Amino acid sequence: MKKLFLIIGAPGSGKTTDASIIAEKHDGIVHYSTGDMLREEVASGSELGLTIEDFISKGALVPLNIIMDTIISAIKNSPVDTILIDGYPRSVEQMNALDEVLKDESDIELVSVIEVRVSQDVAKERILGRAADAKEGEERSDDSIEVFYSRMKIYTDPLNDIQAFYKNKNLLEVISGERILEEVVADMEAFVLSFEK
Ligand code: AMP
Repeated sequence: MKKLFLIIGAPGSGKTTDASIIAEKHDGIVHYSTGDMLREEVASGSELGLTIEDFISKGALVPLNIIMDTIISAIKNSPVDTILIDGYPRSVEQMNALDEVLKDESDIELVSVIEVRVSQDVAKERILGRAADAKEGEERSDDSIEVFYSRMKIYTDPLNDIQAFYKNKNLLEVISGERILEEVVADMEAFVLSFEK
């Protein structure tokens, strides 16, 4: 049985960093970031990558079929059974689509949805800091102040519905992301490990 944890959080919440540190520490845990997987497709120079970059550079969500294919193949091909996916769902449409898929998948259990919560001010400071610190050639096409506000709006618009949906299923776990990295990681790690037997 594959155990799936979804990690959501505003741009700059640190969700990708937190989850990747945890996966590195534990052989039985793998981590996939939707943003990283999409950027890998862009870097491959494929036709699909060109389409994806059009959305990413504007801070817009890629279409449902692309993101669904991306996460489902990551889950199915994962080499180990505990899977952390950050950056999904980002819309009510995505939430419902995964819910439908999971109804037919007896081999995948959605264990929890972890929200890494930070205020908009903290998110903005971190994103602008990341943009200023990026090495040449490693800048992200979406780490600018203009794109930040549109990404933030895209994140917050469906958030109440997403929280309510998973809260109702008793799956929502909120972690404060406004602390030093080690503390956030320790909390998330302890939570994930509490489901390992
Ligand atoms: P991130 O690295 O999580 O900040 O994601 C970077 C960009 O990738 C987002 O602004 C979107 O353009 C795209 N993206 C990431 N996750 C998703 C998703 N679940 N659905 C649609 N687009 C996504």
